[in-house]
Amino acid sequence: MKVNIPVHKNEEYQAKVVDLTYQGNGVVKIDDFPVFVPNALPGEEVTVRVTKVTRNFAWGRVMEWQTKSPDRVDVKDKTYIQTGIAPLGHLKYDAQLRFKQHQIKELLEKAHLDGIDVLPTMGMAKPYRYRNKAQVPVKMVRGKLETGFYKRGSHTLVPIEDFYIQDPQIDKAIVVVRDLLRKYLVTPYDERTGKGVIRTVMVRRGYYSHEIMVVLVTNTKRLPMADEIVKGIVAGVPEVKSIVQNINDRKTNVLLGMKNKALWGKDEIHDQLLGIDFAISPLSFYQVNPQQTERLYQTAIDNAGLDGGQTVIDAYCGIGTISLAVAKHAKQVYGVEVVEAAIEDAKHNAKRNGIKNAKFVVGKAEDQFAKWQAEGLKPDVVIVDPPRKGVAESLIEATGEMGPQKVIYVSCNPATLVRDIQRFAEHGYHVVKPIQPVDQFPQTTHVESVTVLERMGK
Ligand code: SAH
Repeated sequence: MKVNIPVHKNEEYQAKVVDLTYQGNGVVKIDDFPVFVPNALPGEEVTVRVTKVTRNFAWGRVMEWQTKSPDRVDVKDKTYIQTGIAPLGHLKYDAQLRFKQHQIKELLEKAHLDGIDVLPTMGMAKPYRYRNKAQVPVKMVRGKLETGFYKRGSHTLVPIEDFYIQDPQIDKAIVVVRDLLRKYLVTPYDERTGKGVIRTVMVRRGYYSHEIMVVLVTNTKRLPMADEIVKGIVAGVPEVKSIVQNINDRKTNVLLGMKNKALWGKDEIHDQLLGIDFAISPLSFYQVNPQQTERLYQTAIDNAGLDGGQTVIDAYCGIGTISLAVAKHAKQVYGVEVVEAAIEDAKHNAKRNGIKNAKFVVGKAEDQFAKWQAEGLKPDVVIVDPPRKGVAESLIEATGEMGPQKVIYVSCNPATLVRDIQRFAEHGYHVVKPIQPVDQFPQTTHVESVTVLERMGK
Protein backbone atom coordinates (compact mmCIF):
# COMPACT_ATOMS: atom_id res chain seq x y z
CA MET A 1 0.00 0.00 0.00
CA LYS A 2 1.32 3.40 -0.90
CA VAL A 3 1.03 5.90 1.91
CA ASN A 4 0.64 9.51 1.17
CA ILE A 5 3.11 11.38 3.33
CA PRO A 6 2.40 15.08 3.17
CA VAL A 7 5.88 16.28 4.26
CA HIS A 8 9.24 16.00 2.56
CA LYS A 9 12.77 16.12 3.85
CA ASN A 10 14.45 19.55 3.74
CA GLU A 11 11.19 21.33 2.95
CA GLU A 12 9.93 24.11 5.19
CA TYR A 13 6.42 24.46 6.61
CA GLN A 14 4.57 27.09 8.65
CA ALA A 15 2.71 25.60 11.57
CA LYS A 16 1.44 26.04 15.10
CA VAL A 17 2.80 23.81 17.86
CA VAL A 18 -0.15 21.87 19.28
CA ASP A 19 1.38 19.65 21.94
CA LEU A 20 4.46 18.73 23.95
CA THR A 21 5.34 15.03 24.07
CA TYR A 22 6.43 13.29 27.26
CA GLN A 23 9.96 13.37 25.79
CA GLY A 24 9.75 17.16 25.65
CA ASN A 25 9.39 17.60 21.88
CA GLY A 26 6.91 20.02 20.34
CA VAL A 27 4.33 18.55 17.97
CA VAL A 28 3.10 20.25 14.80
CA LYS A 29 0.66 18.68 12.38
CA ILE A 30 0.91 19.10 8.61
CA ASP A 31 -2.33 17.75 7.09
CA ASP A 32 -2.74 15.69 10.27
CA PHE A 33 0.74 14.17 9.91
CA PRO A 34 2.74 14.66 13.13
CA VAL A 35 6.14 16.28 13.06
CA PHE A 36 8.20 16.25 16.27
CA VAL A 37 10.19 19.39 16.84
CA PRO A 38 12.71 19.81 19.65
CA ASN A 39 12.79 23.20 21.36
CA ALA A 40 9.25 24.11 20.28
CA LEU A 41 6.47 24.83 22.79
CA PRO A 42 2.69 24.58 22.55
CA GLY A 43 1.08 27.70 21.11
CA GLU A 44 4.17 28.85 19.23
CA GLU A 45 3.94 29.60 15.52
CA VAL A 46 7.04 28.41 13.76
CA THR A 47 8.73 27.72 10.47
CA VAL A 48 9.86 24.11 10.60
CA ARG A 49 12.35 22.40 8.34
CA VAL A 50 11.74 18.66 8.10
CA THR A 51 14.92 16.72 8.86
CA LYS A 52 13.71 13.12 8.79
CA VAL A 53 10.59 11.36 7.53
CA THR A 54 9.25 7.96 8.54
CA ARG A 55 5.95 6.25 7.68
CA ASN A 56 4.04 7.57 10.65
CA PHE A 57 5.79 10.75 11.69
CA ALA A 58 8.63 13.11 10.90
CA TRP A 59 11.26 15.12 12.75
CA GLY A 60 11.85 18.79 12.21
CA ARG A 61 13.86 21.78 13.34
CA VAL A 62 12.64 25.29 14.09
CA MET A 63 14.10 27.73 11.56
CA GLU A 64 12.17 30.74 12.81
CA TRP A 65 9.63 31.67 15.47
CA GLN A 66 6.74 33.89 14.42
CA THR A 67 5.38 33.88 17.99
CA LYS A 68 6.89 32.58 21.21
CA SER A 69 5.24 30.95 24.20
CA PRO A 70 4.94 32.95 27.44
CA ASP A 71 6.28 29.78 29.11
CA ARG A 72 9.55 29.95 27.15
CA VAL A 73 12.88 30.60 28.80
CA ASP A 74 15.35 31.97 26.34
CA VAL A 75 18.18 29.55 26.93
CA LYS A 76 21.38 31.35 26.12
CA ASP A 77 23.38 28.20 25.68
CA LYS A 78 21.67 25.84 23.25
CA THR A 79 24.08 23.02 24.08
CA TYR A 80 21.89 22.11 27.07
CA ILE A 81 18.97 21.28 24.82
CA GLN A 82 21.16 19.77 22.08
CA THR A 83 22.90 17.43 24.47
CA GLY A 84 19.93 16.28 26.46
CA ILE A 85 21.41 17.65 29.69
CA ALA A 86 18.33 19.84 30.01
CA PRO A 87 15.72 18.76 27.46
CA LEU A 88 13.12 20.95 29.21
CA GLY A 89 15.52 23.81 29.86
CA HIS A 90 13.55 26.04 27.47
CA LEU A 91 10.37 25.71 29.56
CA LYS A 92 9.79 27.91 32.63
CA TYR A 93 10.12 25.92 35.81
CA ASP A 94 6.51 26.32 36.98
CA ALA A 95 5.40 25.10 33.53
CA GLN A 96 7.75 22.10 33.88
CA LEU A 97 6.08 21.25 37.19
CA ARG A 98 2.61 21.54 35.61
CA PHE A 99 3.76 19.43 32.63
CA LYS A 100 4.75 16.63 35.03
CA GLN A 101 1.54 16.81 37.07
CA HIS A 102 -0.52 16.87 33.88
CA GLN A 103 1.24 13.82 32.48
CA ILE A 104 0.11 11.64 35.39
CA LYS A 105 -3.39 13.14 35.25
CA GLU A 106 -3.69 12.48 31.51
CA LEU A 107 -2.55 8.87 31.79
CA LEU A 108 -5.04 8.28 34.62
CA GLU A 109 -7.83 9.75 32.49
CA LYS A 110 -6.93 7.54 29.54
CA ALA A 111 -7.26 4.56 31.89
CA HIS A 112 -10.66 5.85 33.12
CA LEU A 113 -9.25 6.58 36.55
CA ASP A 114 -10.43 10.19 36.55
CA GLY A 115 -11.44 9.93 40.19
CA ILE A 116 -7.80 9.91 41.30
CA ASP A 117 -6.39 13.38 41.90
CA VAL A 118 -2.83 14.53 41.30
CA LEU A 119 -1.32 17.25 43.48
CA PRO A 120 0.93 20.00 42.13
CA THR A 121 4.48 18.72 41.64
CA MET A 122 6.81 19.38 44.57
CA GLY A 123 9.60 21.36 42.94
CA MET A 124 12.96 22.79 43.97
CA ALA A 125 13.49 26.38 45.05
CA LYS A 126 16.63 26.38 42.88
CA PRO A 127 16.00 23.87 40.10
CA TYR A 128 19.55 23.64 38.76
CA ARG A 129 23.05 22.73 39.99
CA TYR A 130 21.51 19.84 41.91
CA ARG A 131 23.30 16.70 40.67
CA ASN A 132 25.82 15.23 43.11
CA LYS A 133 27.44 13.08 40.45
CA ALA A 134 28.87 13.64 36.98
CA GLN A 135 30.12 11.13 34.45
CA VAL A 136 31.81 13.01 31.69
CA PRO A 137 33.23 11.49 28.50
CA VAL A 138 36.73 12.55 27.47
CA LYS A 139 37.45 12.86 23.74
CA MET A 140 39.77 14.40 21.23
CA VAL A 141 37.88 17.18 19.46
CA ARG A 142 39.75 18.94 16.65
CA GLY A 143 43.08 17.90 18.09
CA LYS A 144 42.31 18.95 21.67
CA LEU A 145 41.38 16.87 24.70
CA GLU A 146 37.86 17.89 25.75
CA THR A 147 35.32 17.01 28.44
CA GLY A 148 31.64 17.58 27.82
CA PHE A 149 28.49 15.76 26.89
CA TYR A 150 27.24 13.85 23.86
CA LYS A 151 24.86 15.48 21.42
CA ARG A 152 21.50 13.75 21.73
CA GLY A 153 21.40 10.36 20.03
CA SER A 154 25.06 10.52 18.97
CA HIS A 155 28.61 10.08 20.17
CA THR A 156 29.60 13.58 19.10
CA LEU A 157 31.12 15.35 22.08
CA VAL A 158 30.09 18.93 22.77
CA PRO A 159 32.74 20.53 25.02
CA ILE A 160 31.12 21.94 28.18
CA GLU A 161 32.50 23.57 31.33
CA ASP A 162 29.28 24.64 33.04
CA PHE A 163 26.90 21.67 33.06
CA TYR A 164 24.04 23.73 34.51
CA ILE A 165 22.40 20.94 36.51
CA GLN A 166 25.51 19.69 38.34
CA ASP A 167 26.94 20.87 41.64
CA PRO A 168 29.26 23.71 40.52
CA GLN A 169 32.08 22.29 42.67
CA ILE A 170 31.87 19.17 40.49
CA ASP A 171 32.06 21.26 37.31
CA LYS A 172 35.16 22.97 38.70
CA ALA A 173 36.81 19.65 39.57
CA ILE A 174 36.21 18.38 36.03
CA VAL A 175 37.96 21.42 34.55
CA VAL A 176 40.92 20.85 36.90
CA VAL A 177 41.16 17.21 35.80
CA ARG A 178 40.76 18.12 32.12
CA ASP A 179 43.59 20.65 32.33
CA LEU A 180 45.88 18.12 34.01
CA LEU A 181 45.11 15.50 31.36
CA ARG A 182 46.00 18.09 28.72
CA LYS A 183 49.14 19.17 30.53
CA TYR A 184 50.46 15.62 30.87
CA LEU A 185 49.37 14.64 27.35
CA VAL A 186 47.15 11.74 28.41
CA THR A 187 45.44 10.44 25.28
CA PRO A 188 41.67 10.12 25.20
CA TYR A 189 40.19 6.73 24.37
CA ASP A 190 39.05 6.38 20.77
CA GLU A 191 35.95 4.18 20.36
CA ARG A 192 36.73 3.32 16.75
CA THR A 193 40.28 2.10 17.22
CA GLY A 194 39.98 0.94 20.84
CA LYS A 195 43.23 2.85 21.56
CA GLY A 196 43.98 5.65 24.00
CA VAL A 197 43.96 5.91 27.78
CA ILE A 198 41.29 8.02 29.42
CA ARG A 199 37.61 7.27 28.76
CA THR A 200 35.53 9.03 31.39
CA VAL A 201 35.94 11.30 34.39
CA MET A 202 33.47 10.67 37.19
CA VAL A 203 33.13 13.08 40.09
CA ARG A 204 30.86 12.75 43.11
CA ARG A 205 30.35 15.25 45.92
CA GLY A 206 28.47 14.71 49.17
CA TYR A 207 25.65 17.25 49.48
CA TYR A 208 26.04 17.49 53.26
CA SER A 209 29.60 16.20 53.70
CA HIS A 210 31.17 18.17 50.82
CA GLU A 211 33.54 15.23 50.30
CA ILE A 212 34.65 14.83 46.70
CA MET A 213 35.61 11.61 44.91
CA VAL A 214 37.36 11.72 41.52
CA VAL A 215 37.33 8.56 39.42
CA LEU A 216 39.52 8.36 36.31
CA VAL A 217 38.20 5.63 34.04
CA THR A 218 40.97 4.25 31.85
CA ASN A 219 41.17 1.85 28.97
CA THR A 220 44.65 0.80 30.11
CA LYS A 221 45.99 -0.73 33.32
CA ARG A 222 48.55 2.01 33.58
CA LEU A 223 47.73 5.68 33.90
CA PRO A 224 50.76 7.58 32.65
CA MET A 225 51.94 10.43 34.90
CA ALA A 226 49.57 9.20 37.63
CA ASP A 227 51.61 10.78 40.46
CA GLU A 228 51.70 14.18 38.82
CA ILE A 229 47.99 14.04 38.00
CA VAL A 230 47.12 13.06 41.59
CA LYS A 231 49.26 15.88 42.97
CA GLY A 232 47.54 18.31 40.62
CA ILE A 233 44.06 17.14 41.68
CA VAL A 234 44.90 17.39 45.38
CA ALA A 235 46.20 20.92 44.84
CA GLY A 236 43.37 22.03 42.56
CA VAL A 237 40.36 20.40 44.28
CA PRO A 238 40.59 21.23 48.01
CA GLU A 239 37.57 19.09 48.98
CA VAL A 240 38.90 15.91 47.39
CA LYS A 241 38.95 12.92 49.76
CA SER A 242 39.37 10.07 47.31
CA ILE A 243 41.02 9.60 43.91
CA VAL A 244 40.43 6.26 42.20
CA GLN A 245 41.44 4.75 38.88
CA ASN A 246 38.78 2.51 37.40
CA ILE A 247 39.88 0.18 34.61
CA ASN A 248 37.46 -0.48 31.79
CA ASP A 249 39.23 -2.19 28.88
CA ARG A 250 36.13 -3.55 27.20
CA LYS A 251 34.64 -2.27 23.95
CA THR A 252 31.37 -1.19 25.48
CA ASN A 253 29.15 1.77 26.23
CA VAL A 254 29.11 0.79 29.91
CA LEU A 255 31.01 3.58 31.61
CA LEU A 256 32.74 1.86 34.50
CA GLY A 257 34.80 -1.33 34.63
CA MET A 258 34.81 -3.70 37.58
CA LYS A 259 38.35 -2.98 38.78
CA ASN A 260 39.20 -0.04 41.04
CA LYS A 261 42.62 1.10 42.16
CA ALA A 262 42.86 3.71 44.90
CA LEU A 263 45.37 6.32 43.74
CA TRP A 264 45.12 8.63 46.72
CA GLY A 265 43.10 9.00 49.94
CA LYS A 266 40.14 6.83 50.90
CA ASP A 267 38.36 4.42 48.59
CA GLU A 268 34.93 5.78 49.50
CA ILE A 269 33.27 9.03 50.50
CA HIS A 270 30.32 9.62 52.80
CA ASP A 271 27.09 11.50 52.72
CA GLN A 272 23.81 11.55 54.60
CA LEU A 273 20.25 10.99 53.44
CA LEU A 274 17.31 11.27 55.85
CA GLY A 275 19.76 11.28 58.74
CA ILE A 276 21.45 8.02 57.73
CA ASP A 277 25.15 7.97 56.90
CA PHE A 278 25.99 6.27 53.59
CA ALA A 279 29.36 5.12 52.29
CA ILE A 280 29.68 5.69 48.54
CA SER A 281 32.31 3.86 46.50
CA PRO A 282 32.94 4.27 42.74
CA LEU A 283 30.49 1.55 41.71
CA SER A 284 27.82 2.26 44.35
CA PHE A 285 24.42 3.39 43.31
CA TYR A 286 23.45 6.62 45.07
CA GLN A 287 20.54 8.96 44.37
CA VAL A 288 21.74 11.95 42.32
CA ASN A 289 19.45 14.67 43.70
CA PRO A 290 19.75 14.28 47.47
CA GLN A 291 17.48 17.21 48.40
CA GLN A 292 14.55 15.97 46.37
CA THR A 293 15.21 12.31 47.20
CA GLU A 294 14.75 13.24 50.85
CA ARG A 295 11.43 14.89 50.05
CA LEU A 296 10.28 12.00 47.86
CA TYR A 297 11.17 9.30 50.38
CA GLN A 298 9.96 11.37 53.35
CA THR A 299 6.59 11.69 51.60
CA ALA A 300 6.54 7.91 51.18
CA ILE A 301 7.50 7.31 54.83
CA ASP A 302 5.04 9.89 56.23
CA ASN A 303 2.25 8.12 54.37
CA ALA A 304 3.17 4.71 55.74
CA GLY A 305 1.67 5.64 59.13
CA LEU A 306 4.40 4.00 61.22
CA ASP A 307 4.55 4.10 65.01
CA GLY A 308 7.32 1.63 65.74
CA GLY A 309 5.12 -1.47 65.76
CA GLN A 310 4.95 -2.34 62.06
CA THR A 311 6.59 -4.84 59.78
CA VAL A 312 7.57 -3.18 56.50
CA ILE A 313 8.81 -4.59 53.18
CA ASP A 314 10.88 -2.29 50.97
CA ALA A 315 10.85 -3.85 47.49
CA TYR A 316 13.45 -2.77 44.92
CA CYS A 317 15.38 -1.41 47.89
CA GLY A 318 18.69 -0.56 46.13
CA ILE A 319 21.25 0.40 48.79
CA GLY A 320 18.47 0.49 51.37
CA THR A 321 17.85 4.23 51.52
CA ILE A 322 14.17 3.82 52.29
CA SER A 323 14.61 0.71 54.45
CA LEU A 324 17.19 2.32 56.72
CA ALA A 325 15.20 5.53 57.09
CA VAL A 326 12.06 3.52 57.89
CA ALA A 327 13.82 1.23 60.39
CA LYS A 328 13.68 3.71 63.26
CA HIS A 329 9.89 3.99 62.89
CA ALA A 330 9.18 0.28 62.44
CA LYS A 331 9.55 -3.01 64.30
CA GLN A 332 11.18 -4.87 61.44
CA VAL A 333 12.09 -3.99 57.85
CA TYR A 334 12.78 -6.39 54.98
CA GLY A 335 14.51 -5.13 51.84
CA VAL A 336 14.87 -6.99 48.54
CA GLU A 337 16.95 -5.96 45.54
CA VAL A 338 18.34 -7.78 42.50
CA VAL A 339 21.83 -6.18 42.43
CA GLU A 340 24.10 -8.00 44.85
CA ALA A 341 26.55 -5.10 45.32
CA ALA A 342 23.67 -2.81 46.30
CA ILE A 343 22.58 -5.28 48.99
CA GLU A 344 26.15 -5.44 50.29
CA ASP A 345 26.11 -1.64 50.54
CA ALA A 346 22.74 -1.79 52.30
CA LYS A 347 24.02 -4.27 54.91
CA HIS A 348 27.24 -2.34 55.38
CA ASN A 349 25.30 0.90 55.86
CA ALA A 350 22.86 -0.72 58.31
CA LYS A 351 25.79 -1.87 60.43
CA ARG A 352 27.60 1.46 60.34
CA ASN A 353 24.44 3.24 61.46
CA GLY A 354 23.76 0.71 64.22
CA ILE A 355 20.49 -0.42 62.65
CA LYS A 356 19.60 -3.97 63.68
CA ASN A 357 16.00 -4.37 62.56
CA ALA A 358 16.58 -4.30 58.79
CA LYS A 359 17.13 -7.53 56.89
CA PHE A 360 18.31 -7.45 53.26
CA VAL A 361 17.94 -10.17 50.64
CA VAL A 362 19.39 -10.42 47.12
CA GLY A 363 16.89 -11.54 44.52
CA LYS A 364 14.10 -10.63 42.19
CA ALA A 365 11.43 -8.90 44.23
CA GLU A 366 8.68 -10.99 42.62
CA ASP A 367 10.42 -14.28 43.55
CA GLN A 368 11.18 -13.13 47.08
CA PHE A 369 7.58 -12.00 47.62
CA ALA A 370 6.42 -15.52 46.69
CA LYS A 371 8.89 -16.93 49.25
CA TRP A 372 7.84 -14.55 52.00
CA GLN A 373 4.22 -15.33 51.29
CA ALA A 374 4.93 -19.07 51.53
CA GLU A 375 6.79 -18.51 54.81
CA GLY A 376 3.74 -16.75 56.21
CA LEU A 377 5.24 -13.24 56.48
CA LYS A 378 2.53 -10.67 57.23
CA PRO A 379 3.80 -7.15 56.53
CA ASP A 380 1.72 -4.16 57.62
CA VAL A 381 3.15 -1.94 54.90
CA VAL A 382 4.74 -2.70 51.53
CA ILE A 383 6.79 0.04 49.89
CA VAL A 384 7.76 -0.40 46.23
CA ASP A 385 10.25 1.77 44.30
CA PRO A 386 10.54 -0.14 41.02
CA PRO A 387 12.51 0.69 37.87
CA ARG A 388 10.74 2.17 34.83
CA LYS A 389 9.12 -1.09 33.82
CA GLY A 390 7.05 -1.06 37.01
CA VAL A 391 6.08 -3.90 39.31
CA ALA A 392 5.78 -7.54 38.22
CA GLU A 393 2.21 -8.80 38.21
CA SER A 394 3.13 -11.76 40.41
CA LEU A 395 4.44 -9.36 43.07
CA ILE A 396 1.07 -7.62 43.14
CA GLU A 397 -0.63 -10.99 43.51
CA ALA A 398 1.67 -12.03 46.35
CA THR A 399 1.08 -8.67 48.04
CA GLY A 400 -2.66 -9.31 47.86
CA GLU A 401 -2.11 -12.71 49.53
CA MET A 402 0.09 -11.30 52.30
CA GLY A 403 -2.53 -8.61 52.89
CA PRO A 404 -0.67 -5.51 54.16
CA GLN A 405 -2.94 -2.62 55.12
CA LYS A 406 -0.98 -0.20 52.96
CA VAL A 407 1.06 -0.15 49.80
CA ILE A 408 3.19 2.91 49.10
CA TYR A 409 4.20 3.11 45.46
CA VAL A 410 7.19 5.30 44.56
CA SER A 411 7.20 5.60 40.77
CA CYS A 412 9.61 6.91 38.16
CA ASN A 413 7.28 6.16 35.25
CA PRO A 414 3.65 7.34 35.23
CA ALA A 415 2.68 4.90 32.45
CA THR A 416 3.57 1.79 34.43
CA LEU A 417 2.27 3.38 37.64
CA VAL A 418 -1.19 3.72 36.09
CA ARG A 419 -1.06 0.14 34.80
CA ASP A 420 -0.06 -1.12 38.25
CA ILE A 421 -2.76 0.93 40.02
CA GLN A 422 -5.29 -0.97 37.89
CA ARG A 423 -3.70 -4.30 38.78
CA PHE A 424 -3.56 -3.49 42.50
CA ALA A 425 -7.29 -2.67 42.33
CA GLU A 426 -7.96 -6.23 41.15
CA HIS A 427 -6.34 -7.40 44.40
CA GLY A 428 -8.30 -5.09 46.67
CA TYR A 429 -5.92 -2.10 46.89
CA HIS A 430 -7.21 1.35 46.06
CA VAL A 431 -5.68 4.81 45.88
CA VAL A 432 -6.80 6.72 48.97
CA LYS A 433 -5.10 10.07 48.48
CA PRO A 434 -4.12 12.35 45.63
CA ILE A 435 -0.88 11.27 43.96
CA GLN A 436 2.09 13.46 44.90
CA PRO A 437 4.62 14.12 42.11
CA VAL A 438 8.08 15.16 43.32
CA ASP A 439 10.52 16.69 40.84
CA GLN A 440 13.72 14.69 41.16
CA PHE A 441 15.22 15.83 37.88
CA PRO A 442 14.45 19.49 37.11
CA GLN A 443 15.04 20.55 33.48
CA THR A 444 14.49 16.96 32.32
CA THR A 445 11.35 15.01 31.43
CA HIS A 446 11.55 12.52 34.31
CA VAL A 447 8.42 12.26 36.46
CA GLU A 448 8.58 10.75 39.97
CA SER A 449 5.65 10.39 42.35
CA VAL A 450 4.28 8.79 45.50
CA THR A 451 0.94 6.95 45.53
CA VAL A 452 -0.77 5.62 48.65
CA LEU A 453 -2.95 2.52 48.29
CA GLU A 454 -5.00 0.83 51.01
CA ARG A 455 -6.63 -2.54 51.31
CA MET A 456 -10.38 -2.36 51.14
CA GLY A 457 -13.20 -4.80 51.68
CA LYS A 458 -11.18 -7.99 51.73
N1 SAH B 1 15.14 2.98 46.71
C1 SAH B 1 16.36 2.57 46.10
C2 SAH B 1 16.39 2.79 44.60
C3 SAH B 1 15.36 2.05 43.80
S1 SAH B 1 15.68 2.13 42.07
C4 SAH B 1 17.55 3.32 46.71
O1 SAH B 1 17.37 4.40 47.23
O2 SAH B 1 18.66 2.83 46.63
C5 SAH B 1 15.05 0.57 41.56
C6 SAH B 1 15.88 -0.62 41.98
O3 SAH B 1 15.25 -1.81 41.55
C7 SAH B 1 17.28 -0.68 41.38
O4 SAH B 1 18.20 -0.72 42.45
C8 SAH B 1 17.29 -1.98 40.57
O5 SAH B 1 18.54 -2.65 40.64
C9 SAH B 1 16.23 -2.78 41.25
N2 SAH B 1 15.55 -3.84 40.49
C10 SAH B 1 15.24 -3.88 39.18
N3 SAH B 1 14.52 -4.99 38.90
C11 SAH B 1 14.34 -5.66 40.05
C12 SAH B 1 13.68 -6.87 40.41
N4 SAH B 1 13.02 -7.59 39.51
N5 SAH B 1 13.70 -7.25 41.69
C13 SAH B 1 14.37 -6.51 42.63
N6 SAH B 1 15.01 -5.38 42.35
C14 SAH B 1 15.01 -4.95 41.08
